[in-house]
Amino acid sequence: MDAAVRPREAGTSPLGKGSPHVLIAGAGIGGLTAALALLKLGFDVDLYEQAHELKEVGAGLNLSANGNRALHALGVLDDLKPLACDLAGKEIRLWNTGQTWKLFDLGAMSVERYGFPYLAAYRPDLLGVLANAVRREKADAIHLNSSCVGFTQEDGRVTLKLKGGGEVSGDALIGADGVHSKIRQALFGDDKPEFTGIMAWRATVPMLRLPKRMARMVSINWLGSGAHVVHYPVRRGEMMNFIGSVERDDWKTESWTTRGTAEECANDYKGWHEDVHLMIRNAPSLFKWALLGRSPMDRWTVGRVSLLGDACHPTLPYLGQGAMMAIEDGFVLARCFEQHSGDVGTALARYEDARRDRTRRVVTGSAENAKRFHNPALASQDGAQAYVDREWSEDRIKQRYEWLFTYDVTAVAR
Ligand SMILES: Cc1cc2nc3c(=O)[nH]c(=O)nc-3n(C[C@H](O)[C@H](O)[C@H](O)COP(=O)(O)OP(=O)(O)OC[C@H]3O[C@@H](n4cnc5c(N)ncnc54)[C@H](O)[C@@H]3O)c2cc1C
Repeated sequence: MDAAVRPREAGTSPLGKGSPHVLIAGAGIGGLTAALALLKLGFDVDLYEQAHELKEVGAGLNLSANGNRALHALGVLDDLKPLACDLAGKEIRLWNTGQTWKLFDLGAMSVERYGFPYLAAYRPDLLGVLANAVRREKADAIHLNSSCVGFTQEDGRVTLKLKGGGEVSGDALIGADGVHSKIRQALFGDDKPEFTGIMAWRATVPMLRLPKRMARMVSINWLGSGAHVVHYPVRRGEMMNFIGSVERDDWKTESWTTRGTAEECANDYKGWHEDVHLMIRNAPSLFKWALLGRSPMDRWTVGRVSLLGDACHPTLPYLGQGAMMAIEDGFVLARCFEQHSGDVGTALARYEDARRDRTRRVVTGSAENAKRFHNPALASQDGAQAYVDREWSEDRIKQRYEWLFTYDVTAVAR
């Protein structure tokens, strides 16, 4: 076995005695990325995940060049690529007529312009790649069936409390436990999310159930008044990921697992193009997720405890960047530990400083995009043409996306 990937015993960091042992609550995208980045730098890490297996409800993710740069630096992009789809571009279509506008090229353009491809991946595939890489570094780093309920910090140590009464101690604790973070609640109390008036439908549809003409390596954004739909292929093109956003004020539960029916979803898209209904009709299951907005936090670190990903900057999905921010956070966090490894408080403060403005801009930019996607001007063909010419001109698109994709995570905290 390669010495660089030999599993280590807990507490035996190659940086030696005094190098921080980091506890992470939550083995989602952000928690696993942080663990991998820290382990690769020689820190000892243990992750505590509430689920009894690392399996998610089916859903897809856009992985833009900025996130893929981090995955490449961590040595896992090549593991993911064969499972994902390398998207050739993005298009927008009008809700009823299906009129199509090309938005921008990706594929070779993404590599040429931003250094890395723009992929679409099935979430369980990304989680699997990250978890395998973590386990190659430390075989027993991930503790499943371990629900985190709180923590205490004193005398230079932090103690994580687990459901059932268990406790584990370390030098630092990172809450990577998602939008309903228990660690955030313990640090700052309950948050006050505001319902946006929008709910999202999510499904993955077997591509074989759809007409061949729909099996293209592009991401399509259907725009309408009061609703929109995004769909793109995942898992080598075997499945179509479907996300439908609808202005509806009767569904307020934020959950990955609550199911709705095809009839209910079809009703939300009454009058929409047949291609949209083909996906709804052929979805094996449809999940409902209420979109709740939260104001960006000014700080999320207290002493030896900090947060990352959705735990500290949950965002609406309208820039497709929530998971990318969690990946970037994990990478930068590890860099800050490397720079200040003898001083946990400074490392965590630097990490928070490095990530505050960028993640704030994603949260506010995503909220602005919600209005853009659902504009009343999109109800009629003429209104739509004028709106698309204005809002999706090359300059406006660059303004909205270029700063996201050009971010070089490997140059932060250097
Ligand atoms: C409709 C929709 C579409 C999206 N599309 C995209 C996209 O295209 N691209 C993109 O980048 N992002 C997208 N996102 C956002 C993305 O899904 C999230 O931002 C991302 O999952 C955040 O990662 P995380 O690791 O912070 O949290 P999560 O992925 O939620 O992981 C948190 C982990 O913590 C665990 N956990 C929770 N509580 C506890 C506890 N008490 N104890 C122990 N473990 C716990 C959970 O089981 C989970 O494994 C989308 C989101 C939505 C809702």
